[in-house]
Amino acid sequence: RGGQAQREIPFAQPGSLTKVYAIASGKGGVGKSSVTVNLALSMAKLGLRVGVVDADIYGHSVPAMLGVADTRPTQVEDLIMPVPTPSGVSVISIGMLKPRRDQVVAWRGPMLDRALVQMLSDVFWGDLDVLLLDLPPGTGDVAISLGQHLPGAEVVVVTTPQEAAAEVAERAGTMASMMHQRVVGVVENMSFLPCPHCTAEGKDHRLEIFGSGGGDRVAATLSARFGYDVPVIGRIPIDVSLREGGDAGKPIVDSDPTAPAAVELAAIAGTL
Ligand code: ADP
Repeated sequence: RGGQAQREIPFAQPGSLTKVYAIASGKGGVGKSSVTVNLALSMAKLGLRVGVVDADIYGHSVPAMLGVADTRPTQVEDLIMPVPTPSGVSVISIGMLKPRRDQVVAWRGPMLDRALVQMLSDVFWGDLDVLLLDLPPGTGDVAISLGQHLPGAEVVVVTTPQEAAAEVAERAGTMASMMHQRVVGVVENMSFLPCPHCTAEGKDHRLEIFGSGGGDRVAATLSARFGYDVPVIGRIPIDVSLREGGDAGKPIVDSDPTAPAAVELAAIAGTL
């Protein structure tokens, strides 16, 4: 908007009633976006008005997971309308800001910052109870921008049980803290695979595909580093229907709500 003053970010205003959570991870593929969309839907089921900002420049998989991969946001005067999903949350994705969906954009720091601010301030969010931000993995430009524009955002760190994932997750959490954001909890995803044969026989046997201890390790390290308690707020099992739900644009808390992974995701949403 050439020449015009920048619109303020509503969520950064002192009187804002919107809780903002940034979902962060150290590396890609740990299930950060899956956690984001399922938390969003769980919160919507609790009756909350929920918005989702997909700021993951590498993935931007949130619209597909929410069943709106091909929907473009509309514009009313100089405001962008967020895309409503079938499950009742509003979403805007960094991928939607590109002129063409298949376009590859080499996002640089200043451009990323502008894109993030645009998604926060030029989008007509209305009155939201909760805004969830799906951050890119790692400790990059978007995390720094977010810390500058929304220091009041609280951060949820997603990791797998694996040592290597936990180590980078700790760095992502530490970055958030350096930006004066509070880390409210650690979600351990892909914690175990319930052995299907044993489950069929009524027995509880867990296969630890990615090892164990990552969530506890990240929680302990961040708690010690920050001097406040950073708890593990959930352990999500590996579940085929979680992956299928994501691929089909119908997240597991909607498509298979009694599955253990869905129950755990709903419980995590309840703690936030
Ligand atoms: P990230 O956002 O961290 O890159 P995604 O949420 O895109 O990760 O997940 C990566 C892939 O793993 C997706 O195909 C997703 O469906 C799958 N996935 C994530 N968590 C689980 C889980 N608990 N069980 C089964 N598949 C999962």
